Amino acid sequence: MNLFDEYGPERIVEVYHPGLGMRGILVIDNTALGPGKGGIRFTPSVDREEVFRLARTMTWKNAMAGLPFGGAKAGIIGDPKKLSAKEKDEWVSAFSKLLKGIVPQYYVAGPDISMAEHDMEVFARANGDPQSCTGKPKSMGGLPHELGSTGWGVYHATLVALKHLKKDVKGLAFAVEGYGNVGEFVCKFLTEAGAKLVAVSDSKGAIVVPSGIDANLLFKVKKEKGSVVDYPNARAIQSKELIYQQVDLLVTAAIPDLIKKEDVPKIKAKLVVEGSNIPTSQECEELLANRGVLVVPDFVANAGGVISSYVEYIGGSEKEMFEIVKDKITKNTELVLQRSEKDRVIPRVAAVKIAQERVREKCTTCK
Ligand code: GLU
Repeated sequence: MNLFDEYGPERIVEVYHPGLGMRGILVIDNTALGPGKGGIRFTPSVDREEVFRLARTMTWKNAMAGLPFGGAKAGIIGDPKKLSAKEKDEWVSAFSKLLKGIVPQYYVAGPDISMAEHDMEVFARANGDPQSCTGKPKSMGGLPHELGSTGWGVYHATLVALKHLKKDVKGLAFAVEGYGNVGEFVCKFLTEAGAKLVAVSDSKGAIVVPSGIDANLLFKVKKEKGSVVDYPNARAIQSKELIYQQVDLLVTAAIPDLIKKEDVPKIKAKLVVEGSNIPTSQECEELLANRGVLVVPDFVANAGGVISSYVEYIGGSEKEMFEIVKDKITKNTELVLQRSEKDRVIPRVAAVKIAQERVREKCTTCK
């Protein structure tokens, strides 16, 4: 994949700590609108190309959300489950120290897969500047993403899309791929609004309950037993089958490249809301659109996390954060769906156009 085009990336930084064997990548895509902003993911499979694709997604996400941030992303290559808590702290701390000088001037870090509020605290302490990252614990004046900002935003994007489709949230059957920091809150808010959760997955497997899953009980089961697969009286299915369930709405909330071309004909949902980053390709979204499926793209629907990061960055409160996330996500999703209809293009194409216009307006280095 040729990573370079008219927008970036401006910097690709690879770091290595020989003593720990820690390797990390930072891609700062475009800083026309401000310092690069995006989370750090800690996974065994993260590589330069994935970090670049996610950094580009952040360029559009931050522009679309109207935030004074450019796009960036970082990755630590490794399996955090194989490290002790102390070792993980050492890796995160080493990564942060190796990025000194770049952070926070050109990159402001945040949480992403396998990185939570404690890791942000470790990162900030190793850097020495509290503005080096967001998603920090409340004790440090932070707004941890564990408060549910991303899920709250995905929920509001869903409400706008349902209104657009003239469908009611009450009684709507839905499935959630990935019961993690995003999926958990999507399940909570949607069921509270009267929708019916019929299928859910996590890294250990997936379950179906046609009569509906109790979100409170699911939360308890996950907390006590470690996985959604232990939910009582549920039918276990293959993880891959989750996306094919007979539902009105599918919310993706975990892994990248989840929906492949061959999956498209098997998807029964008429609405897909992308809570996860890069869950599919533009080509698949076009194919889904041809089958009458509305897809709300990742960087529009899941911007709640980075919007919360922005509120933290400017010293806002938790209450303000929830209001700003709701407000921005609602307005932006409406804008994208209107533009998509007007231009007769899929929502992603419309959203990228809006984001590109905003970046180009300020970009002095773009071609
Ligand atoms: N991980 C989140 C995202 O992908 C948040 C990033 C951040 O707050 O910097 O948007």
